[in-house]
Amino acid sequence: MLAQGKAKLVAETPLTIQLPYAVLLKPRLRVQSERKPGEGQCLLLHICCGPCSTYAIQRLREQGFAVSGFWYNPNIHPFAEHERRRECAHAYAEEVGLPMVWWEEYEMPAYFRAVVGHEAFGERCAICYRLRLERTAQVARERGFYAFTTTLLISPYQQQAVIRSIGEETAGQYGLEFYFENFRRGWSERGRIAREQELYQQRYCGCVYSEWEAKDRQASTWRRLPAKRKQKKDK
Ligand code: SF4
Repeated sequence: MLAQGKAKLVAETPLTIQLPYAVLLKPRLRVQSERKPGEGQCLLLHICCGPCSTYAIQRLREQGFAVSGFWYNPNIHPFAEHERRRECAHAYAEEVGLPMVWWEEYEMPAYFRAVVGHEAFGERCAICYRLRLERTAQVARERGFYAFTTTLLISPYQQQAVIRSIGEETAGQYGLEFYFENFRRGWSERGRIAREQELYQQRYCGCVYSEWEAKDRQASTWRRLPAKRKQKKDK
């Protein structure tokens, strides 16, 4: 610009030039010190398994929550599988210093009573979510938590919108907040941590129906949810 006479040299060090016209600079964005959504709040995190808890714990802590974990999964079948997943969740909670609340009983009969007559995939899952979220809300209220949420929100195999709706409805009934966030954004991070920590990774969701469906695509309980209606074409 100097060579072409489009600017005047003001100083060589540091190099300073003067333009013959005014330049309007965009105002700088002021960085606001934003308050984190969970700051000062105690949250009870329902944990479905160790691997799914990894990203959720990390993310909730980043959001400022004082997180405690809660174990209640009467859907997991058989008992040996339930224990294997519980032990994995326990080991990971110890690893990251997560305080835990354990539901001691294995309430498998409660799960089967709840889903009887509704065994189709999707239909039974909504019942299964409600069973676990209601227990989480009950314990959260008894122990003075402000909010609760669930690691189920991370899985692309779960119906996130249904979980959210049941969570919010349950929270209303118990006078709590249900914390919703799309944890699916952390699905690959979940995999990375689980591999790094050598956590046990199960091959089916949890119930005996899901085990059957994972092995047999013709299982009679394997009924997919109705396909999304075709989007209307833009006019
Ligand atoms: S498939 Fe998973 S969410 Fe659905 S009922 Fe079985 S354990 Fe529950």
